[in-house]
Amino acid sequence: MATLRRFGFGLLCLVMAAIAVLPVPDFWITQLNYIGIYAMVALGLVLLTGVAGLTSFGQAAFVGVGAYTAAYLAVTLGVSPWLTLLVGIALSVVVALVLGAITLRMSGHYLPLATIAWGLTIYYTISNMEFLGKYDGLLGVPPITVAGFSLGTGRGLYVLIWALALASALAVTHLLDSRPGRAIRSLKTGTTMAEAMGISTLRYKIIAFVLAAVLASISGWLFAHFQRSVNPTPFGVHKGIEYLFMAVLGGVGHVWGAFIGAGVVKLVEDQLQVLLPKLIGTSGNFEIIVFGLVLIAVLKYAPDGLWTFVTKRLPAPRRVRDWQGAAPLPTRDKPQRGDLLLEVDQVRKQFGGLVAVNDVSFAIRAGDIVGLIGPNGAGKSTTFNLITGVLSMTRGAVRFRGQPVGGLSSRQIAERGMSRTFQHVKMIPEMTVLENVALGGYLRTRSGPLRAMLRLDRAEERCLFAEAEAQLARIGMAEQMHELAGNLALGPQRLMEIARALCTDPALLLLDEPAAGLRHKEKQALADVLRQLKREGLSILLVEHDMDFVMGLTDRIVVMEFGTRLIEGTPEEVQASPIVRAAYLGTEH
Ligand code: ADP
Ligand code: MG
Repeated sequence: MATLRRFGFGLLCLVMAAIAVLPVPDFWITQLNYIGIYAMVALGLVLLTGVAGLTSFGQAAFVGVGAYTAAYLAVTLGVSPWLTLLVGIALSVVVALVLGAITLRMSGHYLPLATIAWGLTIYYTISNMEFLGKYDGLLGVPPITVAGFSLGTGRGLYVLIWALALASALAVTHLLDSRPGRAIRSLKTGTTMAEAMGISTLRYKIIAFVLAAVLASISGWLFAHFQRSVNPTPFGVHKGIEYLFMAVLGGVGHVWGAFIGAGVVKLVEDQLQVLLPKLIGTSGNFEIIVFGLVLIAVLKYAPDGLWTFVTKRLPAPRRVRDWQGAAPLPTRDKPQRGDLLLEVDQVRKQFGGLVAVNDVSFAIRAGDIVGLIGPNGAGKSTTFNLITGVLSMTRGAVRFRGQPVGGLSSRQIAERGMSRTFQHVKMIPEMTVLENVALGGYLRTRSGPLRAMLRLDRAEERCLFAEAEAQLARIGMAEQMHELAGNLALGPQRLMEIARALCTDPALLLLDEPAAGLRHKEKQALADVLRQLKREGLSILLVEHDMDFVMGLTDRIVVMEFGTRLIEGTPEEVQASPIVRAAYLGTEH
């Protein structure tokens, strides 16, 4: 499959190159120039909106930054186009970093609104600057020259536009299949799981945002040299909406969807601009209305865009298993069996008037499995979230390997060697099981976006995938590694989460109701896996609702009810305790 895809890309490059030398009419070269320029902006939106889930209506403003930088520097200062490209990229990176730092912490509807706001701001700034020619813009942008050869606006520029567009597509494809790419792909499903794997979600939101801005800026640079002039109109918010439309129509989330979307929108728009005024009888931008209606239809009937109609017919991508014999990832030094590993000291959590965790204390020694049990609503998950830094304590202290970890973020706690699963499975359904597990190895690997785009990260990726496969084998799931995580039943999904947590090389593994929703057979299999992990020396904190499940498995048990610790002891002590019986009988019936 990978070869088919690579073959497809090579073929596309060949076709696009052939068009440059074949007697294709100039009209079509011009159309293709527009499509390539638009596709680069849409490609940025595929990454930002489709993959990372951050909707931006303001991409046209970044196109404007690139275009105006090129035009202004060339027209007034005579700077060479290749230098203006670099300045434009640098400027868009700075603008994106500043805007991103302010707006990317926002959630929900605020971010799209913020993108409209800064889209308008940049547009009106450009439109009102004397030195940028106000609404008239700048005329007389010189053509780009390569080795003394002027590219003009036709075929020469066509080659440059498509070389850059296809190179960008390849770079984004490489990025998505990499350590930083998986981090970006994890953003859409919320931040809790990614942070628990040690991923700074803000960092990757900013990276996606900056990359989208850079693609838009390069597109703007090409646009200025293609038009040989700039004015503010193509950089307004209406154009920003059109770019988003291209990405959504083509298949937001798919690299080639950007190209399909740009092509369809450009060609249909031209037709509509001729046809609609004739039909309606007056002139105006009626195509916008049609696009709006089409967008609603696409979102309703083909929310994944047109490209999915192609991918549905292709076999699912399957990673080539090329990591046999790869070097092991670095491991952390582990505590000695019997060492004091975790101390939970008078921990309290209040939600308004409700005391969910009421001054709870217990300890875990290395090599033990400790069960935290209690009826529903007892405060087990909340305790768990306090230990792992997902929630902040109202008061109390948690010490891990002798160091206080209260007040640290879940990411910092993950760095120190705690790894967890979730009561409600958190995963990336459209990633394979193997890729999901590889997310756990994030902190044990290093490659950044640049290395990934240039494909310099392959050796490290092999080590990571060897580790991910080894962890899946450890829990008996190696067979399912190529399946999409979203297609698994609940039992295997829970096991996959355990493999992902193991992939972090934890000193303490925390499992929140791993047996919930499992059938009897699956529960037994899970118990066997946990026993095996204990034999291998792992320490586990196990939150469970089901008493029977923990009885044969744990060294010590902490029982909670209504936020309070009822009793702590060995399974036998707990089983014999009348208080525990009362608590369970009192609530279960
Ligand atoms: P358990 O995991 O033992 O079933 P939880 O820790 O999930 O229990 O919940 C303990 C109590 O705290 C419950 O009464 C629950 O309704 C409450 N609670 C949990 N999370 C929140 C929250 N984010 N806001 C308000 N109340 C919460
Ligand atoms: Mg719970």
